Amino acid sequence: MKLDDAKVRTYLTSKLGGACGSCGAKNWTYDTAVYELREFHGGNMVIGGSGILPLLTITCTNCGTIRMINPIAAGLLSTSGEAT
Ligand SMILES: [Zn+2]
Repeated sequence: MKLDDAKVRTYLTSKLGGACGSCGAKNWTYDTAVYELREFHGGNMVIGGSGILPLLTITCTNCGTIRMINPIAAGLLSTSGEAT
């Protein structure tokens, strides 16, 4: 799913920014797609009944370092999965 581009941009402008912790560059790009981070189960793929974190990613365009943001905590996604 995709988040609202204008809201993501507003969030990133107001809450984040600054230099990349890896290389010091201040050039970031983002993707409005929401990705998932699944709970580890010893290498087995478990569907359902397991924790999943939604992730918004921003990437340093200089070195490729990725920052991960929880879009629910950021107010960009409801707990039912709707873009806010
Ligand atoms: Zn960097």
